[in-house]
Amino acid sequence: MRIETLAVHAGHAIDAATGAVATPIHLSTTFERDAEGGYPHGYVYGRSANPTRHALEEGLAALEGGEDAAAFGSGLAASSAVLQALAPGDHVIAPTDVYHGMTKLLREVFVRWGLDVSFVDMTKLDEIKQAVQPRTKLFWVETPSNPLLKITDIVRVAEVAHAAGAVCVCDNTWAPIVQRPFDLGADLVVHATTKYFGGHSDVTGGVVIARTKTDFFERVREIQTTGGAVPSPFDCWLILRGMRSLPWRIRAHSENAFKVATWLADHQRVEAVHYPGLDSHAGHEIAARQMSAFSGMLSFEVRGGREAALSVAAKTEIFIRATSLGGVESLIEHRASIKGEDPRTPQGLLRLSIGLEHPDDLIEDLAEALE
Ligand SMILES: *Cc1c(COP(=O)(O)O)cnc(C)c1O
Repeated sequence: MRIETLAVHAGHAIDAATGAVATPIHLSTTFERDAEGGYPHGYVYGRSANPTRHALEEGLAALEGGEDAAAFGSGLAASSAVLQALAPGDHVIAPTDVYHGMTKLLREVFVRWGLDVSFVDMTKLDEIKQAVQPRTKLFWVETPSNPLLKITDIVRVAEVAHAAGAVCVCDNTWAPIVQRPFDLGADLVVHATTKYFGGHSDVTGGVVIARTKTDFFERVREIQTTGGAVPSPFDCWLILRGMRSLPWRIRAHSENAFKVATWLADHQRVEAVHYPGLDSHAGHEIAARQMSAFSGMLSFEVRGGREAALSVAAKTEIFIRATSLGGVESLIEHRASIKGEDPRTPQGLLRLSIGLEHPDDLIEDLAEALE
């Protein structure tokens, strides 16, 4: 099946009891045992497994091309479970520009619990190789990166990881469908399903997907069911509903973003545009190899720095000033003024999450704001 068909049908079954076509939301926290004490339907208790969550996990695994998936209450809960599957003294290699919540999680939580972390520029293979230590157990890849849309070569990093006997995890939140990390050597894929999978800015969620059911993934599953950072049945249902249209949405997000990026690149008040779909982007060649489209995220730098950028964001009428990404509505954000953001983020930088409006309306809105 092609990806569009899989998105519509994966994790989907007609409800045996009622014939319902839409997936039911099962709120029950407990499931009846039979007279012999067994569990005839396989479900015991809401934290350990739930039918709506199970449908979501099947769907997400199928769509990413993995064997199994574990859904969580947020993207960072999913990332935490991966880190919790390591042991004290283990060493992690992560990108310097990894999602800022992940930097905080590593530095403020997991280093205290005994993990050792090196932050490296993942676009430089030599730097990655030099960072490898005898206890390096995990490589964390996130591409395109935030907010400069740097591109990491997943194939190369996965090779280094495997040569070191480590697991390669790819946070694929920014490029679902259009980037297939399992085909490129990743062992685990993480998504903040809060973003493109949910797709409507109305649900928080995360997932860890395993290419194959390894012992490492079994530990992630154990942490999910024992730690309990699970999504509610309603949240699972929302993410599953969003997933059904994701291949078509991401295509439209990508087309719109390409048009906006191309237009911005020619604007005299714009100093730089960061979009991997542009030939001028430093990572374009690798991106063109490992992505089938370039997704809906981009950033650009306004001439005049912080004040100029803030005034552009203040003037847009269709773009909404808000953080996050991947929803139907376009968002604009001055990243440097976000708490916890990397101080290296340029002051004149605005990040755009391109939604599903007509691209000409988005361009006209930016044209007026940049006037
Ligand atoms: C948003 C995001 C996360 C975290 O997801 P939450 O649902 O907010 O916890 C992780 N990685 C990337 C790349 C993200 O954009």
